[in-house]
Amino acid sequence: MEAQAIQPLARLLRDHKGTTIVLTGAGISTESGIPDFRSPGGLYESIDPMEYLSVWALERTPARFWDYFARLFGSFGHIQPNAGHVALARLEAEGYVHTVVTQNIDGLHTRAGSANVLEVHGHVRTVHCTGCAHTFPMAEALRQVADGHCPPGCPRCGELLRPDVVLFGDMLSQAFPQAIEAARASSLTLVVGSSLTVSPANSIAVLSPHLAIINRDPTPADARADLVIHAPAGDTLAALLETLGIP
Ligand code: NAD
Repeated sequence: MEAQAIQPLARLLRDHKGTTIVLTGAGISTESGIPDFRSPGGLYESIDPMEYLSVWALERTPARFWDYFARLFGSFGHIQPNAGHVALARLEAEGYVHTVVTQNIDGLHTRAGSANVLEVHGHVRTVHCTGCAHTFPMAEALRQVADGHCPPGCPRCGELLRPDVVLFGDMLSQAFPQAIEAARASSLTLVVGSSLTVSPANSIAVLSPHLAIINRDPTPADARADLVIHAPAGDTLAALLETLGIP
């Protein structure tokens, strides 16, 4: 990406240093090898997430839910943060970004070094028991599925385990009101890699007085943004760091 094309974005970041929040979606993680939902080749082309990743699917067909979940998200532990995640962590460390609000469940922002991360759709680090509520590492559930114990059961009481992610039909996570608060307190929201079509997470994008968007494809919020860059997230954020003089 031409450094010149990034100047207006760098200016926005400078103007709103310390009061910028970043809202990320599945698009920031495609360069790490995790498919998003709505791009060509994305997950929506092969499944109806509502049918597979909902509270109803977990309740009615738990073995099918876990078989699918383990195949889709079981390999996240081996996937590495990319240049985009690393750049956001650097922007936070240098005082430009206050909070990263993510719709992603892959945990890559934290692994890249971002400290102030709100995971509004939960994460794949842990599971909990639907009976006794005890929490276990995700590895426990994945091990059981790999050993043929599907759906996985609680090692303490035997009831069904469920991932600590927000499924379709779930209540919002505790991180959601915190994200709303962070967005209201900010002066700039930088959206990275989100189609801004998943409600209510997309509502977070329009709470700051200023909005900038980095996304490969157009979003419904483009028209109201101060700045829109339709380009890959990794290259764009790496160029932003360079323009801001951040090593
Ligand atoms: P989405 O699939 O609706 O939209 C992703 C957007 O990112 C698209 O508009 C696409 O053009 C853009 N994009 C893809 N690759 C890009 C890149 N390299 N650079 C810049 N833009 C890129 O994703 P969403 O808005 O996050 O909503 C989907 C829901 O599914 C969210 O809740 C999300 O958390 C969840 N999900 C999460 C993961 C994950 O944790 N990695 C993966 C798939 C889906």
